[in-house]
Amino acid sequence: MRGAVLYGPRDVRFEERAAPAILMPADAIIRISATCVCGSDLWPYRGLQPNAGPTPMGHEYCGIVEDVGSAVKLVKPGQFVIGSFFASDNTCPHCRAGYQTSCRHREFVGGAQAPLLRVPLADGTLVPTPAVPSDDLIPSLLAVSDVMGTGWFAAEAANVKPGATVVVVGDGAVGLLGVLSARLKGAQRIIAMSRHQTRQRLAREFGATDIVSERGEEGVARIREITDGIGADSVLECVGMQQSMMQAIRCVRPGGSVGYVGVPHGVELDGEQLFFAHVHLHGGPAPVRRYLPVLIEQVWDRTINPGKVFDLTLPLDQVAQGYRAMDERRAIKTLLRP
Ligand SMILES: [Zn+2]
Repeated sequence: MRGAVLYGPRDVRFEERAAPAILMPADAIIRISATCVCGSDLWPYRGLQPNAGPTPMGHEYCGIVEDVGSAVKLVKPGQFVIGSFFASDNTCPHCRAGYQTSCRHREFVGGAQAPLLRVPLADGTLVPTPAVPSDDLIPSLLAVSDVMGTGWFAAEAANVKPGATVVVVGDGAVGLLGVLSARLKGAQRIIAMSRHQTRQRLAREFGATDIVSERGEEGVARIREITDGIGADSVLECVGMQQSMMQAIRCVRPGGSVGYVGVPHGVELDGEQLFFAHVHLHGGPAPVRRYLPVLIEQVWDRTINPGKVFDLTLPLDQVAQGYRAMDERRAIKTLLRP
């Protein structure tokens, strides 16, 4: 089969790779219906994260189960399934507490930008849909595999309550779905921080009531101004840089909460600043597995349409163009069809 492999900065190749096989009794092999490029794929793509030689790319996926190992009891060949970027047993103490991305047996699922994918711990990781979906549902089901689940976790970690004032830092796919998640949780005022017109439009469609295009000091001042000097009850940090993290902490009111899901790159927090900020901080790799059943249900009954974040769809063999479009911010998120 042919799949996407990252060789170095801005060098993604679609090339021949060995097809995955069942290696452990708990594995499944799925035939990918759709996959995509993640914002976090752009870090190694831009050379901002070390890359130890050619790396098969992709960790967002949905598709049809092709084969299962001898220990797999729940997942069956022919089912349409969705999983998250970390495989989890869904039975250990951390999984039972709802933190499947800290599973004691977690394993990163990589190489999804290909026609076939091996998923370890299949019974704990994969959630089947009620039936094989119609084609128009595929983008939203794929979004549930990472970005929607991550936006949802950001809103949960930021303790978004009905009637709340919420700020979302970051206008990538996760930030935009953080806006949608805040609306679903009943936030009254949702302020999206974005300076890109197409993203502002989608943020409004997902439920943003205000747009702030300033950043850093000016952004914080603007949030203070429109919240009568109080700050937001909840802030979703969906970028992972020093400026965005400090922006989030400084936009929240005393006693408020920051939910941070942007993978940190060079973020350092000052103890004294943190001490006097009086904020709750919670975040990390989103335990998407916890939310898969409920989010799949909402997509299935067409309550939500998170697949709208895909504004570019390409055949998988044009994967390199998909990375380029996101790198140059011409696309919010690229969907790839094998
Ligand atoms: Zn576990």
